[in-house]
Amino acid sequence: MKYFSTNRKAPAVGFREATLLGQPADKGLYFPERIPRLTEDFWSDFADKPPAQIAFEVIAPFVAGEIDDEELLRICAETVDFEFPLVRITPEISALELFHGATLAFKDVGARFMSRCLRYFSKEKSEKTIVIVATSGDTGGAVANGFYDVDGVEVVILYPKGKVSKVQELQLTTLGRNITALEVGGNFDDCQTLAKTALADEELKKKVFLTSANSINVARWLPQQFYYFYAYRQWISEIQNPKSEIRNPVVCVPSGNFGNICAGILAHITGLPCAKFIAATNVNDVIPNFLATGEMREKPAVATLSNAMDVARPSNFVRILEIFDHDYLNLKEKLAAASVTDETTAATMRAVYEKHGYLLDPHGAVGFYALERYLENNPGQAGYFLETAHPVKFDSVEQIVGTFGDVPESVGALYERPKQSIEIAPDYEELKEILLGKV
Ligand SMILES: *Cc1c(COP(=O)(O)O)cnc(C)c1O
Repeated sequence: MKYFSTNRKAPAVGFREATLLGQPADKGLYFPERIPRLTEDFWSDFADKPPAQIAFEVIAPFVAGEIDDEELLRICAETVDFEFPLVRITPEISALELFHGATLAFKDVGARFMSRCLRYFSKEKSEKTIVIVATSGDTGGAVANGFYDVDGVEVVILYPKGKVSKVQELQLTTLGRNITALEVGGNFDDCQTLAKTALADEELKKKVFLTSANSINVARWLPQQFYYFYAYRQWISEIQNPKSEIRNPVVCVPSGNFGNICAGILAHITGLPCAKFIAATNVNDVIPNFLATGEMREKPAVATLSNAMDVARPSNFVRILEIFDHDYLNLKEKLAAASVTDETTAATMRAVYEKHGYLLDPHGAVGFYALERYLENNPGQAGYFLETAHPVKFDSVEQIVGTFGDVPESVGALYERPKQSIEIAPDYEELKEILLGKV
């Protein structure tokens, strides 16, 4: 399997190269030359297959032998070693809870898979590997945790001082060992600029193997397919009355960079039954606007309650276009979108807690609301939304609903560990010195 660049100016590469490079030189995104189809064999024992085996069979055609089968199965097992429950909230709406992993957000899946691929691929390298990542909250923790104690890999995380939640900051700063957290006196964009400057620094790249763990990396994007299969298995076994004719679920994904939903659509193309996808965004609504008008009108990002989705230019959307061969009408057949304001998000969090006793985080609330509206307008269907992170990760939840719900034990333990971070100005020279110190 080769991966070509969506800009079509850089050469096609295999899975290993695509993982190590992250992004092609022409600044496109890597995309598989051909989308594999799941076979009868896969479905014949689908209901009984262990989750790691499902993951393995889903990802194997994409890895195409570049990791040996035994190792790939082990990587899959380590990636999905937690629960992905589908929880019914109303007769028509369920939540696919993706927050039972190490850092309580879906990004654990991609980060764990990618870290282990990188460990495998960097074994043959003589120079040190440094993973640099800018985060507005969830990514940093997932990447730090995924790479924690991985031999031969140093991780440097840049986060904006005072702009991540308490729990997110603790997840970033209490690991130590091969994880260095840099608290940047600036905003997320400053962090991203610093990371990009480092990744383009030729002098530095002569001394270390520098890579980024951002969400466009194929090794983070592709494993996000796994939980859509786990959802479907629960959908057919528990949610639906076995006597009734099984309806395919409407799948609603709270979206920012559109990596998560793109993985779901990819899974669907390989053979996973789904009735429709809904991209739920906050007021950063470039894509809902695009689907409504056919025009991509960019505007600056606005800060919202669902801050992991405050994205002006959704980087993974081009992959969705690629899946549909840039055919707008085809795309609209499968993908709907809705944008949800902060006011509605907060009202949804309160209402769902009061009516159903289910505590949503702001991202999940955006998903719940968009799905509820869709089902109102399309009666006779049912579906699930992705609850992308645990409510305790967002300080606003307690302010809005008055509780964090059942807080996982791991959160309490975080408060007992000392914070370790280095404050830096948004100045590349300061960052460079720190990176050179790790060589
Ligand atoms: C990253 C993130 C999202 C957005 O996912 P994309 O793949 O960027 O669309 C949604 N919710 C939470 C909690 C996140 O951390």
